[in-house]
Amino acid sequence: MIEIVDPHKPTTLDDYAEYIQLRPSVEELREEAERLTTPLEGRTLWMVNSTASGGGVAEMMPKLVALLNELGLDTEWAVIQPQAQRFFDLTKHLHNLIHDSGPSRLSGGDRALYESVSEDAADALEPYLSESDLLAVHDPQPLGMGAILKDRLGLPTLWRCHIGLDRQTDHTRAAWDFLRPFAEKYDRTVFSISDYVPEFLDEQASVIPPAIDPLSHKNRDLSVHKVSGVLANAGLARYSEVLTPDFEPQAERLQTSGDLGPATSPGDLGLPFRPAVTQISRWDRLKGWVPLLQGFARMKERHYAKDAPSGGSNGAFVSADEEHPERHHRRLDLVRLILAGPDPESVADDPEGQAAFEQICLQWKKLDPRVQRDVAILALPMDSRKENALMVNALQRCATVVAQNSLQEGFGLTATEAMWKSCPVMGTRAVGLRTQIRDGVDGRLVENAEDADEVAETLDAMLSAGRERQAWARNARRRVADEYLVFGQAERWLETLARVGEASAAPVRAAAS
Ligand code: UDP
Repeated sequence: MIEIVDPHKPTTLDDYAEYIQLRPSVEELREEAERLTTPLEGRTLWMVNSTASGGGVAEMMPKLVALLNELGLDTEWAVIQPQAQRFFDLTKHLHNLIHDSGPSRLSGGDRALYESVSEDAADALEPYLSESDLLAVHDPQPLGMGAILKDRLGLPTLWRCHIGLDRQTDHTRAAWDFLRPFAEKYDRTVFSISDYVPEFLDEQASVIPPAIDPLSHKNRDLSVHKVSGVLANAGLARYSEVLTPDFEPQAERLQTSGDLGPATSPGDLGLPFRPAVTQISRWDRLKGWVPLLQGFARMKERHYAKDAPSGGSNGAFVSADEEHPERHHRRLDLVRLILAGPDPESVADDPEGQAAFEQICLQWKKLDPRVQRDVAILALPMDSRKENALMVNALQRCATVVAQNSLQEGFGLTATEAMWKSCPVMGTRAVGLRTQIRDGVDGRLVENAEDADEVAETLDAMLSAGRERQAWARNARRRVADEYLVFGQAERWLETLARVGEASAAPVRAAAS
């Protein structure tokens, strides 16, 4: 029922500090940690979630656990593994409700199931805990377990909720009514964005945004050689000789037959030479794939309908690249849309993902053949996390514009990742994206992600605005450095934990001995 997970071989703070650019953040974190860990001395922090791999929480956990340990807070990572599939169906239902989707009915049977699995999980974790420990549980799955352990042991508790919506609906109210009796037991709760905090938790909530690791395979700097090598190894470009061996398996591309085939068939993608608008996400309708595809197609069709450039426009769009209309014309000839996500085979247990992928393929098949040729739908294998991360990294670095056209977005790490790489980003007004991207400062935001005309106009404007793109890209990197790197995240965790620890009257082992 409980697995204690070893957070693998971590990158140490000294590794980060080797980079002069990162050193001030590392130093600040070390200084703050000395102060903040004092009230936590002698305590063990237990981080508990419901999966050791897959999903954003599992991705973030090893780094955070390793960092907190290195900073002097003894931290353990435990995963609850209830056997009842019905429990996960229920928590998925709650997850959907919090995002305002799915059926809204929750029954008395659901509560009984949730309580009984939570009791069993509490029984399994309790022998590991002492009253002076800190318990931090993530998301709705172990929430009930933590509330029970709070009652039994009185230890300081924190609930980290990684999901939310910026408005209330019947669905969200149904979920929060269900979770409220458990959530209210906690000393503190933590959300990614302040808009997500339900009213009843206003007084006891902190905000800690998600963060990225600048030295991970997904975000580390890649030289031109390395980018080319990854493209070649992943089958995303044709090269004759590169240093490293091919990835196994390689990326694939949707073919007109409807099957997946080599990414360089029917022709090379043109990376990194051709301009590219690139979106990389899960195959989820809410990621706005279809309107992005339609917006891109509209931009191309209008471009084809235009006369050859003569220094002006036919009125369909007024190019911002007025000084170089021929250059922009050529750019619109060449630009490609790259839509990439996990190999749908690897998400076979996610029927919603399969359906979304099929929907995108259907829309692609309907495109004018001239436009269709310039839209590549890529399936990135998930067999190796490292190879998948390097593919995402290289594709983002080859983009002229990274798009994240989400209709809804919890946070949108794909935007953070692109911003860190100084890629100009086109986001939307979805709350996670508008929190990160300041329109006209760190990138551009479309008002209505479902409006293909607006998407077309924004993309056209971004592609033509060479100077602004550079400014947005630099500002975006700075914004991530200031707000969304693991160092700031670890510091905010320590601040919150210190607050919870100070408020708790529980005896501390070190003080007692
Ligand atoms: N991602 C990936 N491979 C893919 C597609 C997506 O590694 O083929 C990653 C992406 O880089 C990001 C994460 O999945 O780190 C998605 O997180 P985000 O916050 O953008 O959206 P979510 O999937 O949590 O809704």
